[in-house]
Amino acid sequence: MRIAILSRNPSLFSTRRLVEAARARGHETKVIDVLRCYMNITSHAPSMHYRGEELNDFDAVIPRIGASVTFYGTAVLRQFEMLGVYPLNESVAITRARDKLRSLQLLSRKGIGLPITGFAHAPDDVEDLIKMVGGAPLVIKLLEGTQGIGVVLAETQKAAESVIEAFMGLKVNILVQEYIREANGADIRCFVIGDRVVASMKRQAKEGEFRSNLHRGGTATLIRITPEERSTATRAARIMGLNVAGVDILRSNHGPVVMEVNSSPGLEGIERATGKDVAALMIEFIEKNAVLGKTRTRGQG
Ligand code: ADP
Ligand code: MG
Repeated sequence: MRIAILSRNPSLFSTRRLVEAARARGHETKVIDVLRCYMNITSHAPSMHYRGEELNDFDAVIPRIGASVTFYGTAVLRQFEMLGVYPLNESVAITRARDKLRSLQLLSRKGIGLPITGFAHAPDDVEDLIKMVGGAPLVIKLLEGTQGIGVVLAETQKAAESVIEAFMGLKVNILVQEYIREANGADIRCFVIGDRVVASMKRQAKEGEFRSNLHRGGTATLIRITPEERSTATRAARIMGLNVAGVDILRSNHGPVVMEVNSSPGLEGIERATGKDVAALMIEFIEKNAVLGKTRTRGQG
Protein backbone atom coordinates (compact mmCIF):
# COMPACT_ATOMS: atom_id res chain seq x y z
CA MET A 1 0.00 0.00 0.00
CA ARG A 2 0.97 3.65 -0.26
CA ILE A 3 0.66 5.29 3.11
CA ALA A 4 0.90 9.03 3.76
CA ILE A 5 1.99 10.11 7.21
CA LEU A 6 0.81 13.59 8.06
CA SER A 7 3.47 14.94 10.34
CA ARG A 8 5.31 18.22 10.56
CA ASN A 9 8.61 16.62 11.45
CA PRO A 10 10.01 13.39 9.92
CA SER A 11 12.58 13.08 12.71
CA LEU A 12 10.04 12.76 15.54
CA PHE A 13 10.22 9.38 17.25
CA SER A 14 6.60 8.44 16.44
CA THR A 15 6.93 9.49 12.81
CA ARG A 16 10.17 7.55 12.37
CA ARG A 17 8.69 4.45 13.97
CA LEU A 18 5.62 4.55 11.73
CA VAL A 19 7.77 4.88 8.61
CA GLU A 20 9.98 2.02 9.80
CA ALA A 21 7.06 -0.25 10.66
CA ALA A 22 5.25 0.43 7.38
CA ARG A 23 8.39 -0.23 5.31
CA ALA A 24 9.14 -3.40 7.26
CA ARG A 25 5.70 -4.63 6.29
CA GLY A 26 6.30 -3.87 2.61
CA HIS A 27 4.49 -0.55 2.23
CA GLU A 28 5.58 2.67 0.61
CA THR A 29 5.44 5.75 2.81
CA LYS A 30 5.71 9.48 2.45
CA VAL A 31 5.90 11.91 5.33
CA ILE A 32 3.87 14.98 4.50
CA ASP A 33 3.94 18.33 6.30
CA VAL A 34 0.26 19.31 6.59
CA LEU A 35 1.08 22.98 6.47
CA ARG A 36 2.57 22.52 2.99
CA CYS A 37 -0.56 20.81 1.65
CA TYR A 38 -2.92 22.98 -0.35
CA MET A 39 -6.23 22.06 -1.73
CA ASN A 40 -8.62 22.64 -4.55
CA ILE A 41 -12.12 22.22 -3.18
CA THR A 42 -13.97 22.63 -6.45
CA SER A 43 -17.17 20.65 -6.68
CA HIS A 44 -16.73 17.14 -8.16
CA ALA A 45 -12.99 17.65 -8.65
CA PRO A 46 -11.34 18.01 -5.28
CA SER A 47 -7.56 17.65 -5.30
CA MET A 48 -4.61 17.78 -2.96
CA HIS A 49 -1.30 19.43 -3.76
CA TYR A 50 2.04 19.33 -2.02
CA ARG A 51 5.13 21.34 -2.88
CA GLY A 52 4.08 21.71 -6.50
CA GLU A 53 2.88 18.17 -7.16
CA GLU A 54 -0.57 16.63 -7.00
CA LEU A 55 -1.05 13.87 -4.43
CA ASN A 56 -3.50 11.35 -5.74
CA ASP A 57 -2.37 7.81 -5.25
CA PHE A 58 -2.42 7.13 -1.52
CA ASP A 59 -4.39 4.23 -0.08
CA ALA A 60 -4.25 5.36 3.54
CA VAL A 61 -3.24 8.32 5.63
CA ILE A 62 -1.97 8.36 9.21
CA PRO A 63 -2.76 11.71 10.79
CA ARG A 64 -0.26 12.92 13.41
CA ILE A 65 -1.62 16.40 13.75
CA GLY A 66 -0.13 18.59 16.45
CA ALA A 67 -2.43 20.57 18.72
CA SER A 68 -1.18 23.88 17.31
CA VAL A 69 -2.25 22.96 13.76
CA THR A 70 -5.58 21.25 14.49
CA PHE A 71 -7.66 23.56 12.32
CA TYR A 72 -5.56 23.35 9.17
CA GLY A 73 -4.51 19.76 9.80
CA THR A 74 -8.06 18.46 10.06
CA ALA A 75 -9.01 20.39 6.90
CA VAL A 76 -6.20 18.61 5.03
CA LEU A 77 -7.27 15.26 6.44
CA ARG A 78 -10.88 15.95 5.43
CA GLN A 79 -9.70 16.61 1.89
CA PHE A 80 -7.91 13.23 1.85
CA GLU A 81 -11.17 11.66 3.06
CA MET A 82 -13.08 13.38 0.23
CA LEU A 83 -10.54 11.86 -2.17
CA GLY A 84 -11.39 8.44 -0.79
CA VAL A 85 -8.13 7.86 1.09
CA TYR A 86 -8.55 5.73 4.23
CA PRO A 87 -7.68 7.71 7.38
CA LEU A 88 -6.39 5.82 10.43
CA ASN A 89 -8.34 8.35 12.49
CA GLU A 90 -11.07 10.42 10.88
CA SER A 91 -10.99 14.21 10.87
CA VAL A 92 -14.30 14.53 12.72
CA ALA A 93 -13.10 12.28 15.52
CA ILE A 94 -9.86 14.25 15.88
CA THR A 95 -11.79 17.51 16.08
CA ARG A 96 -13.98 16.03 18.82
CA ALA A 97 -11.02 14.77 20.82
CA ARG A 98 -9.18 18.09 20.68
CA ASP A 99 -11.93 19.80 22.68
CA LYS A 100 -11.86 18.50 26.25
CA LEU A 101 -15.34 19.77 27.06
CA ARG A 102 -16.96 18.27 23.99
CA SER A 103 -15.16 14.97 24.66
CA LEU A 104 -16.30 14.77 28.26
CA GLN A 105 -19.88 15.58 27.25
CA LEU A 106 -19.85 12.75 24.70
CA LEU A 107 -18.36 10.32 27.22
CA SER A 108 -20.80 11.32 29.96
CA ARG A 109 -23.73 10.73 27.61
CA LYS A 110 -22.63 7.11 27.37
CA GLY A 111 -22.05 6.64 31.07
CA ILE A 112 -18.23 6.51 31.07
CA GLY A 113 -16.76 7.22 34.54
CA LEU A 114 -15.44 10.80 34.69
CA PRO A 115 -14.09 13.12 37.36
CA ILE A 116 -16.89 15.50 38.45
CA THR A 117 -16.46 18.34 35.99
CA GLY A 118 -18.05 21.78 35.65
CA PHE A 119 -18.03 24.50 33.05
CA ALA A 120 -19.27 28.07 33.35
CA HIS A 121 -18.97 31.37 31.55
CA ALA A 122 -19.83 34.12 34.01
CA PRO A 123 -17.64 35.14 36.97
CA ASP A 124 -20.86 35.48 39.02
CA ASP A 125 -21.32 31.72 38.82
CA VAL A 126 -17.84 30.78 40.03
CA GLU A 127 -18.74 30.25 43.68
CA ASP A 128 -21.55 27.85 42.83
CA LEU A 129 -19.42 26.15 40.18
CA ILE A 130 -16.75 25.37 42.78
CA LYS A 131 -19.40 24.03 45.16
CA MET A 132 -20.82 21.89 42.36
CA VAL A 133 -17.56 20.02 41.79
CA GLY A 134 -17.06 19.46 45.53
CA GLY A 135 -14.94 22.46 46.54
CA ALA A 136 -11.16 22.84 46.78
CA PRO A 137 -8.73 21.31 46.10
CA LEU A 138 -9.71 21.22 42.47
CA VAL A 139 -8.19 21.14 39.02
CA ILE A 140 -8.66 23.91 36.49
CA LYS A 141 -7.93 23.19 32.82
CA LEU A 142 -7.72 25.13 29.61
CA LEU A 143 -10.06 23.44 27.12
CA GLU A 144 -7.35 23.06 24.51
CA GLY A 145 -4.20 22.54 26.53
CA THR A 146 -1.79 19.64 25.96
CA GLN A 147 1.27 18.14 27.61
CA GLY A 148 0.10 19.30 31.02
CA ILE A 149 0.42 22.98 30.14
CA GLY A 150 -2.73 24.78 31.19
CA VAL A 151 -3.64 22.34 33.98
CA VAL A 152 -3.60 23.94 37.42
CA LEU A 153 -4.20 22.50 40.87
CA ALA A 154 -5.93 25.01 43.15
CA GLU A 155 -5.46 23.86 46.73
CA THR A 156 -7.81 26.29 48.45
CA GLN A 157 -11.16 27.90 47.75
CA LYS A 158 -9.51 31.32 47.50
CA ALA A 159 -6.85 30.11 45.05
CA ALA A 160 -9.53 28.40 42.94
CA GLU A 161 -11.67 31.54 42.78
CA SER A 162 -8.81 33.79 41.76
CA VAL A 163 -7.39 31.44 39.13
CA ILE A 164 -10.84 30.87 37.59
CA GLU A 165 -11.55 34.60 37.57
CA ALA A 166 -8.16 35.31 36.01
CA PHE A 167 -8.79 32.82 33.19
CA MET A 168 -12.29 34.19 32.65
CA GLY A 169 -10.84 37.71 32.50
CA LEU A 170 -8.48 36.53 29.74
CA LYS A 171 -11.50 35.16 27.85
CA VAL A 172 -10.11 31.63 27.63
CA ASN A 173 -12.36 28.63 28.08
CA ILE A 174 -11.68 26.45 31.08
CA LEU A 175 -13.23 23.55 32.89
CA VAL A 176 -13.15 22.88 36.59
CA GLN A 177 -12.70 19.37 37.87
CA GLU A 178 -12.73 17.34 41.04
CA TYR A 179 -9.12 16.62 42.08
CA ILE A 180 -8.53 12.87 42.25
CA ARG A 181 -6.08 12.97 45.14
CA GLU A 182 -6.02 9.18 45.59
CA ALA A 183 -4.40 8.83 42.15
CA ASN A 184 -1.21 10.10 43.85
CA GLY A 185 0.11 11.86 40.79
CA ALA A 186 -0.24 8.75 38.61
CA ASP A 187 -2.41 8.00 35.64
CA ILE A 188 -2.75 5.12 33.22
CA ARG A 189 -2.27 5.54 29.50
CA CYS A 190 -4.15 2.87 27.58
CA PHE A 191 -3.12 2.67 23.94
CA VAL A 192 -6.19 1.56 22.01
CA ILE A 193 -6.15 0.24 18.45
CA GLY A 194 -9.54 -0.80 17.10
CA ASP A 195 -11.40 -2.54 19.90
CA ARG A 196 -8.30 -3.56 21.87
CA VAL A 197 -5.96 -2.03 24.44
CA VAL A 198 -2.67 -3.10 22.84
CA ALA A 199 -0.38 -1.60 25.47
CA SER A 200 -0.71 0.26 28.74
CA MET A 201 1.62 2.12 31.03
CA LYS A 202 1.49 3.89 34.34
CA ARG A 203 2.85 7.40 34.35
CA GLN A 204 4.00 8.80 37.66
CA ALA A 205 4.50 12.52 38.18
CA LYS A 206 7.86 13.62 39.49
CA GLU A 207 8.19 14.51 43.18
CA GLY A 208 6.11 17.54 44.13
CA GLU A 209 4.10 17.54 40.87
CA PHE A 210 0.57 16.23 40.31
CA ARG A 211 0.69 16.13 36.50
CA SER A 212 2.02 12.84 35.22
CA ASN A 213 2.76 13.98 31.65
CA LEU A 214 6.10 12.67 30.40
CA HIS A 215 6.70 16.18 29.04
CA ARG A 216 6.44 17.43 32.62
CA GLY A 217 9.07 15.01 33.89
CA GLY A 218 6.82 12.03 34.63
CA THR A 219 8.17 8.48 34.38
CA ALA A 220 6.52 5.52 32.65
CA THR A 221 6.36 1.91 33.75
CA LEU A 222 4.54 -1.18 32.58
CA ILE A 223 1.24 -1.86 34.34
CA ARG A 224 -1.43 -4.53 34.28
CA ILE A 225 -4.83 -2.98 33.94
CA THR A 226 -8.11 -4.38 35.27
CA PRO A 227 -10.85 -5.67 32.97
CA GLU A 228 -12.95 -2.65 33.98
CA GLU A 229 -10.14 -0.27 32.96
CA ARG A 230 -9.72 -2.16 29.72
CA SER A 231 -13.37 -1.89 28.79
CA THR A 232 -13.53 1.76 29.88
CA ALA A 233 -10.62 2.57 27.54
CA THR A 234 -11.98 0.74 24.51
CA ARG A 235 -15.48 2.14 25.00
CA ALA A 236 -14.11 5.67 25.34
CA ALA A 237 -12.17 5.34 22.07
CA ARG A 238 -15.24 3.95 20.31
CA ILE A 239 -17.50 6.74 21.59
CA MET A 240 -15.04 9.32 20.27
CA GLY A 241 -14.96 7.51 16.93
CA LEU A 242 -11.18 6.99 17.12
CA ASN A 243 -9.53 3.84 15.75
CA VAL A 244 -6.30 4.76 17.49
CA ALA A 245 -6.40 6.56 20.81
CA GLY A 246 -4.45 7.15 23.98
CA VAL A 247 -7.06 6.94 26.72
CA ASP A 248 -5.88 8.43 30.01
CA ILE A 249 -7.46 7.01 33.13
CA LEU A 250 -7.16 7.90 36.81
CA ARG A 251 -7.75 5.30 39.52
CA SER A 252 -10.29 7.02 41.75
CA ASN A 253 -12.22 5.88 44.81
CA HIS A 254 -15.25 5.64 42.56
CA GLY A 255 -13.55 3.43 39.96
CA PRO A 256 -11.64 4.27 36.78
CA VAL A 257 -12.33 7.78 35.48
CA VAL A 258 -11.35 8.97 32.02
CA MET A 259 -9.41 12.21 31.99
CA GLU A 260 -8.92 12.59 28.30
CA VAL A 261 -8.75 10.76 24.99
CA ASN A 262 -5.79 11.66 22.78
CA SER A 263 -6.11 11.26 19.02
CA SER A 264 -2.35 11.28 18.26
CA PRO A 265 -0.86 9.33 21.16
CA GLY A 266 2.94 9.32 21.20
CA LEU A 267 4.81 6.08 20.61
CA GLU A 268 8.06 6.74 22.43
CA GLY A 269 6.85 6.42 26.03
CA ILE A 270 4.55 3.47 25.43
CA GLU A 271 6.98 1.45 23.27
CA ARG A 272 9.84 2.00 25.70
CA ALA A 273 7.74 1.13 28.76
CA THR A 274 6.10 -1.95 27.28
CA GLY A 275 8.63 -3.18 24.70
CA LYS A 276 5.75 -3.62 22.25
CA ASP A 277 5.90 -2.75 18.57
CA VAL A 278 2.86 -0.48 18.69
CA ALA A 279 3.76 1.14 15.35
CA ALA A 280 3.52 -2.25 13.61
CA LEU A 281 0.11 -2.85 15.21
CA MET A 282 -1.11 0.47 13.81
CA ILE A 283 0.07 -0.49 10.31
CA GLU A 284 -1.51 -3.92 10.70
CA PHE A 285 -4.82 -2.26 11.58
CA ILE A 286 -4.62 -0.23 8.36
CA GLU A 287 -3.91 -3.39 6.34
CA LYS A 288 -7.03 -5.03 7.75
CA ASN A 289 -9.35 -2.05 7.52
CA ALA A 290 -8.31 0.25 4.70
CA VAL A 291 -10.78 0.11 1.89
CA LEU A 292 -10.58 2.91 -0.66
CA GLY A 293 -13.53 5.27 -0.50
CA LYS A 294 -14.97 3.53 2.53
CA THR A 295 -14.33 6.02 5.35
CA ARG A 296 -17.24 6.39 7.71
CA THR A 297 -17.77 10.10 7.20
CA ARG A 298 -15.91 10.78 3.91
CA GLY A 299 -15.17 14.31 4.96
CA GLN A 300 -18.70 15.04 6.16
CA GLY A 301 -19.21 17.19 9.26
P1 ADP B 1 -3.15 17.54 29.08
O1 ADP B 1 -4.03 17.46 27.89
O2 ADP B 1 -2.42 18.83 29.15
O3 ADP B 1 -2.28 16.32 29.20
P2 ADP B 1 -4.72 16.41 31.26
O4 ADP B 1 -6.16 16.66 31.46
O5 ADP B 1 -4.31 15.09 30.73
O6 ADP B 1 -4.14 17.57 30.34
O7 ADP B 1 -3.98 16.66 32.64
C1 ADP B 1 -2.56 16.57 32.80
C2 ADP B 1 -2.19 15.71 34.00
O8 ADP B 1 -2.69 16.30 35.21
C3 ADP B 1 -2.80 14.33 33.96
O9 ADP B 1 -1.99 13.43 33.24
C4 ADP B 1 -2.92 13.96 35.44
O10 ADP B 1 -1.70 13.42 35.93
C5 ADP B 1 -3.17 15.31 36.11
N1 ADP B 1 -4.61 15.52 36.31
C6 ADP B 1 -5.46 16.04 35.40
N2 ADP B 1 -6.71 16.09 35.88
C7 ADP B 1 -6.68 15.58 37.12
C8 ADP B 1 -7.66 15.38 38.15
N3 ADP B 1 -8.94 15.72 37.95
N4 ADP B 1 -7.25 14.82 39.32
C9 ADP B 1 -5.95 14.48 39.50
N5 ADP B 1 -4.98 14.67 38.60
C10 ADP B 1 -5.32 15.22 37.41
MG1 MG C 1 -2.97 14.38 29.25
